Amino acid sequence: MASLHINQIEKKFAPSKTGQQAPFALGPIDLTIREGEFFSLLGPSGCGKTTLLKLVAGLTEADAGNILFGDNDLTKVAPEARRFSMIFQQPLLFPHMTIEENAAFGLKMQKIGKKERLLEARRMLAMTGLSGFEHRYPDELSGGQQQRVALARALVAKPRLLLMDEPFSALDPGLREEMRELLGTIQHELGVTVLFVTHDRQEAFELSDRIGIMGGGRLLQVGTPVDLYERPESTTVASFLGLKNIVEGTVHSRNFESHDGQISINTGQELADGRYCLIFRPETLMPATFGNQATVPSVQFTGKVSKLKFNQGTYVALVQAGDEMLECMVTRDQAENMEVGQLIKIFVKQSDLQFVEY
Ligand code: ATP
Repeated sequence: MASLHINQIEKKFAPSKTGQQAPFALGPIDLTIREGEFFSLLGPSGCGKTTLLKLVAGLTEADAGNILFGDNDLTKVAPEARRFSMIFQQPLLFPHMTIEENAAFGLKMQKIGKKERLLEARRMLAMTGLSGFEHRYPDELSGGQQQRVALARALVAKPRLLLMDEPFSALDPGLREEMRELLGTIQHELGVTVLFVTHDRQEAFELSDRIGIMGGGRLLQVGTPVDLYERPESTTVASFLGLKNIVEGTVHSRNFESHDGQISINTGQELADGRYCLIFRPETLMPATFGNQATVPSVQFTGKVSKLKFNQGTYVALVQAGDEMLECMVTRDQAENMEVGQLIKIFVKQSDLQFVEY
């Protein structure tokens, strides 16, 4: 086993003759996926996730750059010789084969004897929760069960890398969550390296060790889910992650001022003067309704409670600070002691302030 190295990979697509399809350029992209890692490519539709996955799989030829597995250059190696498995949105099972024959297919291609490959297929079907279904045919299974077979079939071949392109997006939300949990457990148990493509933030955050955020054919930022949530490096990444409370303003002599001047705080860090977005994570905003004072270096501003929302165990106060409507997570006690229309002070630790260049 070894890491996958993507070096300076580039791919261009010309516009379609009718002009309906614009030209597209991917890369250059550099990325290393470590052995045993669950890595997701996350980004909006059309940003190039599938193209990058296909380059890794060998299904698309790169214009420049190379792909290595350990020291082994795979750039010119045929897809079937890469020893990778791929799972798509549709399970793509063979309709005339039973479930266990489907699951054993990869091993048949590897010329493994019938007894051994069926044994291995049954073991993997048991892992994916399909014991008892071995002799059925694909059309006798639900969509979710068929995708479990696709997973078993991919894993039976003991791939060096498992490539997954939006594998759960055709399933309904409950089933999606179930499949997500199953995949997480199996990946952990087998230690298989996964490269997973999705545009679903929650899916990427729940499953991944690291995530690469893509936009416009580029890899914008790579990090753990916590890194990305707490330290987005650009407003594009922050907006794509759906981060709340992004306030535009300017920094002058270490002081940030929102554009209407309502929020004016010391940045607590060396920043060149200029335009910035300040991101307040909702759980870092502390309302001072009981006269509680922050015990660490912090800044404060004033706002008016505009709404209190209860959502299955958590409370959110919407606080209007000038033109900005900020979401603030509050405790039950705080929520019960707040009133709509009340002016409150909000404290934030300086270390929780996240500035991003505009
Ligand atoms: P989605 O989430 O919608 O699947 P994506 O991020 O996976 O999107 P890609 O499928 O990689 O995006 O496509 C990126 C761009 O490249 C799109 O504009 C697409 O139309 C274009 N494209 C992809 N494959 C080809 C091709 N074979 N020929 C021409 N253009 C292509």
